[in-house]
Amino acid sequence: MSKRDYYEILEVSKNASAEEIKKAYRKKAIQFHPDKNPGNKEAEEKFKEAAEAYEVLSNQEKRKRYDQFGHAGVGGAAGGGFGGGGMSMDDIFSHFGDIFGGGFGGFGGFGGFGSSGSQRVNKGSNLRVKVKLTLQEIANGVEKKIKVKKYVSCQHCNGTGADKGSAYSDCSTCRGTGQVTRISNTILGQMQTRSTCPTCHGEGRIITHKCAQCNGEGLLRQDEIVTINIPAGVEEGMQLSVSGKGNAARRGGINGDLLVLIQEEQHPELIRDGSDLIYNLTMSIPDAILGAPVEIPTVEGRVKVKIEPGTQPGKILRLKGKGLPEVNGYHRGDLLVRINVFIPKDISREDAKMVEKLKESEAFLPGQGDEQSFFSRMKNMF
Ligand SMILES: [Zn+2]
Ligand SMILES: [Zn+2]
Repeated sequence: MSKRDYYEILEVSKNASAEEIKKAYRKKAIQFHPDKNPGNKEAEEKFKEAAEAYEVLSNQEKRKRYDQFGHAGVGGAAGGGFGGGGMSMDDIFSHFGDIFGGGFGGFGGFGGFGSSGSQRVNKGSNLRVKVKLTLQEIANGVEKKIKVKKYVSCQHCNGTGADKGSAYSDCSTCRGTGQVTRISNTILGQMQTRSTCPTCHGEGRIITHKCAQCNGEGLLRQDEIVTINIPAGVEEGMQLSVSGKGNAARRGGINGDLLVLIQEEQHPELIRDGSDLIYNLTMSIPDAILGAPVEIPTVEGRVKVKIEPGTQPGKILRLKGKGLPEVNGYHRGDLLVRINVFIPKDISREDAKMVEKLKESEAFLPGQGDEQSFFSRMKNMF
């Protein structure tokens, strides 16, 4: 599927200003917002498409690359944030939630907010980051420092949103109760619904003088370095939740969480299978017959292992405890060395003669009893 032009998606010209792009995105986001189009897949796609276009065009660096190289310039993981436009709804809300206006918390993402719970504590939205780990980091656990852009409590007003010396006044919409009651007529008779007051967001009072730094929100967007301790044994696709390290909430609520999505970097030689590791060892025919010392890669470096004479292809050597630890257990997996024997396809006439010679020895005939007798015959040979 070829991607549409980002400018076309947002319906702006190639030389649109940042402000124009923001406005255009806002318009699209509101038009296709899932709250307005429940269950409408097409609107959801459009909503995502617009977010992806905005993600690129709102970033000077990415926009420049896009202008120069098109989608190829910003595709894949190059952008850092999202892989190739695979933005989830949650991603969109956590990154661009503020653009929908009307303050924060209006659209808090799916599921969590929006329902008319009568008493709700303001909670900041969750942040999501991806962390790529090597097998070695997974084996030992690792401390990662990650820069995240997030909402932090405004230091100027201590997160209250009120200017110094400002007074509050009772909210006139809800008369200070923080809730509004609506009575509607339905087939079942009159229904009373209570919801959070839209004017004061349930606080019951409004600020007479807003803090100029944060425009009364009590929040500022800032970069923060977050230290994440990743335990040993984590796996691709696991999500760690670092409590309280997400976005701060408006005016003194509790912080959201930082959700860390684990990604595994593929090891050049070792294959992971749960807490076990697999290494495919290919030996030459003579080495398999005569035995040989070999080097096996492990997460702690290479180890020397002696391969016994007469080792069969398909045999699995188990190096106990050389695998990975389990994320919340005491068990440590093993390293399984799967032995394969290399059978050459193209050999010279001379080599063929050498192999022919093997035929003369009874020892090379299959079906000559069990391994035991095979070994004893081997010993007699040398
Ligand atoms: Zn402030
Ligand atoms: Zn109110």
